[in-house]
Amino acid sequence: MLERSRLATIGKKVFSRWLGARRYPQNGLELACLLKRLDIQDERVLAAIADVPRDQFVSEDLQWLAWHNEPLPIGCGQTISQPFIVAYMSQMLELEESQNVLEIGTGSGYQTAVLSQLCRHVSTIERYPDLYRMAVARFAQLGLENISAKIGDGYEGWPENAPYDRIIITAAAPEVPKELIGQLKMGGRMLLPLGERPVDQFLTLFERTESGQGMKTLLPVRFVPMVKGKVL
Ligand code: SAH
Repeated sequence: MLERSRLATIGKKVFSRWLGARRYPQNGLELACLLKRLDIQDERVLAAIADVPRDQFVSEDLQWLAWHNEPLPIGCGQTISQPFIVAYMSQMLELEESQNVLEIGTGSGYQTAVLSQLCRHVSTIERYPDLYRMAVARFAQLGLENISAKIGDGYEGWPENAPYDRIIITAAAPEVPKELIGQLKMGGRMLLPLGERPVDQFLTLFERTESGQGMKTLLPVRFVPMVKGKVL
C-alpha cells in the first residue's frame, strides 16, 4: 500500500493539473464560452472565435498558451491581441455578410481570419514583410479565400479595393487617419485605438455620416503604435 504522504503528493498533482486545465480555455469552443461570460453577445462572433484555430497563429512554443485570453508575442516586437479585444472589436463593427472591410495591422492574421468569417471580403495591410509572409501562409493553409493582403503603410489605405463599409485598425494612431476617412463609405464605421501614449489609448468608434462625423469612446486599451512608412 502507498504511504499517506505519497498519496497526498499524487493527489495534489492530479488536482493541480485538473485545476489548470479547468481554469484556462483549452480550445476554441472553451474560449468562446469564456468570452460569452465576459459579455460578448454576438453569436456570429462567438462562432468565429470557436472556429478559427488561434494556435495556428502563434509560434510552436507558444501554442499551449494560444487559447488563454491573453496577448502573445508574434515577432518583430509585435503582439497578437487578446481574444477578448478581437471579439469585442469584431462585435462593435456590427458586420454584415455582404460587407467589404479594410484592416490595418495584419500582424499574425488572427483578427483578419475572424473577420473573414463575418463579411464578404477583408483587405489587410501589414508593414513588416516577415509578418505578412507568415500571415498569408496561414490564410492559404486554412483555405481562407476572401482575404487580400499586402505589405504597405496603412496610413495610405488600399484605394484600389475601396470604398469600405468598415475599417478596423489594430495599432494605436494619434488621430483618425485622413486618407482612410476618404476610403470609408458614407454611413460606414471605423474602429481604432486612439492615443499617442500606451497609458491613454481608447478604443474609438468613428462614423462617417452625411452631416459630418461622429466619435464614440469605448474602452481603455493598450496597442502597439501605428507607425508611418514602410519597413525596409
Ligand atoms: N491584429 C493583429 C495584431 C496586430 S499588432 C493580430 O491579430 O495578430 C499591430 C500590427 O500593426 C503590427 O503587426 C504592426 O507591424 C502593424 N502596423 C503598425 N503600423 C502600421 C502601418 N502604418 N501600416 C500597416 N501595419 C502597421
